[in-house]
Amino acid sequence: MDIFGKCHEFTAAKVAMELGIYPYFIPMSENEGTEAVFQGRRLIMCGSNNYLGLTTHPKIRQAAIDAIHRFGTSCTGSRFLNGTLEIHHQLEHELADYVGKQAALIFSTGMQVNLGVISSVVGRGDFVILDKDDHASIVDGAKLSYGECKRFRHNDMADLERVLSKLPEEKGKLIAVDGLYSMGGDIAPLREIVPIGRKYGARLMVDDAHAMGVLGGGRGTSAHLNITDKVDLIMSTFSKSFASLGGFIAGDEPIIHYIKHHARSVIFSASIPPANTAAALAALHVMQEEPERIQRINAIGDKMRYEYQRLGFNIGPSVSPIIPILIGDDLRTILVWKELFDNGVFVNPVLTPAVPDGQQLLRTSYMATHTDQQLERVLEIFEQVGKKAALI
Ligand code: PMP
Repeated sequence: MDIFGKCHEFTAAKVAMELGIYPYFIPMSENEGTEAVFQGRRLIMCGSNNYLGLTTHPKIRQAAIDAIHRFGTSCTGSRFLNGTLEIHHQLEHELADYVGKQAALIFSTGMQVNLGVISSVVGRGDFVILDKDDHASIVDGAKLSYGECKRFRHNDMADLERVLSKLPEEKGKLIAVDGLYSMGGDIAPLREIVPIGRKYGARLMVDDAHAMGVLGGGRGTSAHLNITDKVDLIMSTFSKSFASLGGFIAGDEPIIHYIKHHARSVIFSASIPPANTAAALAALHVMQEEPERIQRINAIGDKMRYEYQRLGFNIGPSVSPIIPILIGDDLRTILVWKELFDNGVFVNPVLTPAVPDGQQLLRTSYMATHTDQQLERVLEIFEQVGKKAALI
């Protein structure tokens, strides 16, 4: 059997390309944040994670440029050996302070945070307990660990308790959940998860990739729910509100110290480049200097959820500026996506197997820098396309 056989048999994407409905890897020739140019056409961007609109902020651009002038383009090595800059340490200290933890450790991507943290903390004989809707990087971190992975139904506290109650009392346990779910736009009930976890001796890690900069005055889901001191580990990425690339984990100093010396994705991978580090640091400053951006993104989320519901769209359980439009069928989702694209709105189609059959959706997300006029236009196009597709 040829190991490449599956590659030759994989035709679904080619068929979609031939039909002109392939929605992935579409290159942009310009990207100013709220609008981007695809294939020569300017679209309103409602499919990015640039929640605070900081990718084009003058101070953040300048910080990245200055860092290149000062340190060059790469650290050409791991944090562990030759790749640690003073600004890496500065960013770690400021992030720890910002989220309200003793210490933080930065990685080159958020994916690498989850891979490295979960696989180093969850050892042989330990258990890692995941929500069924957890991000792929958490699932992969669990797969990479020597421990055993158990899953509970999304945000279902009775199911979490059922799973925990079956595990041996003396074994180590880590519950890992998203704070703000990237597809549903709903949040984890951390106030309920904490006491259940404690009852069974489990530690809790929250992935706040989407909530950092958005919820809790910018400090994430734990701050939003006023429970930061009871969440053991908080992770986030720089690829969303921080307008950069990289990620971090924050927690008590001994735990971060251990992760720093055991997480293979930090030890055996080159450190976050100077420009990305400086951009993330500058973004952290702007988040604190311009809190009106955080208010604006949440106000936009409230407005858009209200308007979509008023129009008759099904937005599921969203309580945030991530607003899914539930469609429930692969082909129909793609066709509506294409219609929106052709009419000037960029959103993300989410199909099986990324979601179970029946839960296919268009993921829409917003930026603090979207103008009221852009949002009105988006709603107009959605109404027109939604009616044509008999969604509303
Ligand atoms: N966690 C969540 C919930 C995410 O959505 C993502 C990115 N989509 C990541 C982790 C990984 O972050 P990064 O893009 O920095 O690798």
